[in-house]
Amino acid sequence: MLVHRRNFLRACGGTGLALAAGRFASAAAKTNRQIIDVHMHSYPALAEMKRHNVIRGIVSGGNGDRLQAALKWHDNDPARFIPGASIRGSEDTPLPDLAVLRKGFSAGQFRVLGEVTAQYAGTTLSDPKYDPYLALAEEFDIPVALHTGTMPPGMTHDECCRTARVHFGRPGLVEDALNKHPKLRLNLMHCGYPYLEDTIAILMQYPQVNADLGAIDWLLPREAFHSYLRALTSAGLAKRLMFGSDHMFWPDAIGLAIEAVESASFLSDGDKNDIFYGNAVSFYKLKV
Ligand SMILES: [Zn+2]
Repeated sequence: MLVHRRNFLRACGGTGLALAAGRFASAAAKTNRQIIDVHMHSYPALAEMKRHNVIRGIVSGGNGDRLQAALKWHDNDPARFIPGASIRGSEDTPLPDLAVLRKGFSAGQFRVLGEVTAQYAGTTLSDPKYDPYLALAEEFDIPVALHTGTMPPGMTHDECCRTARVHFGRPGLVEDALNKHPKLRLNLMHCGYPYLEDTIAILMQYPQVNADLGAIDWLLPREAFHSYLRALTSAGLAKRLMFGSDHMFWPDAIGLAIEAVESASFLSDGDKNDIFYGNAVSFYKLKV
């Protein structure tokens, strides 16, 4: 079975959204908290961001040339959007010329290397092919954001990603990369879900690693999301988690994702401020 990726993601996100919206009607409730969304993609969401007080969004990917899409999206509201350079490294989506990224980092155009989708390319961040890119990120003190955990259902049957495998999403597989590149700051996107033990182990061992809640905060059944979040925070990791929506074609998900964190009764108000805002400011060294 071959599935067109974009159509598939549209359908997948739409289904999740419809289910989630049915269950959580209060998702659009306004919050006064300032929010940074560290996991967005280059598709319309400005109205939703304003409605929910999302003052910064790290954007990457998009249609066509992924690097250009992020830059173009940033230009819609330069004070709000931070462009990330999304790279993969598959036959379908080869790695960009290193000189292009060097220019982008040195000019301050790209402030993040990511979303890096090594898993979709059938490998991990520790693959030597990423070494020059990680070395460049270290040189410019650019944080790296890596897709971890699972993928949308059926992804390995998409023509883009026939070598993708679930197990390449294990956060433990970044360890060699972290040791080859000791100055690397790494965001484990999607919190490595469902690999809880790997996620906790890597976060505990490597203080330069954080994790974001992208997609799991609105796509997972609420109980499963809260259980995962509770396990991470009860392990003492609330200062290492960052809010993310993984917004693509479903801007309503931003409100649902916010509500999923706000409704976690086991988090203190301080934890929520850290997750929605403070941890991203520290990790991404944002000027706010
Ligand atoms: Zn991802």
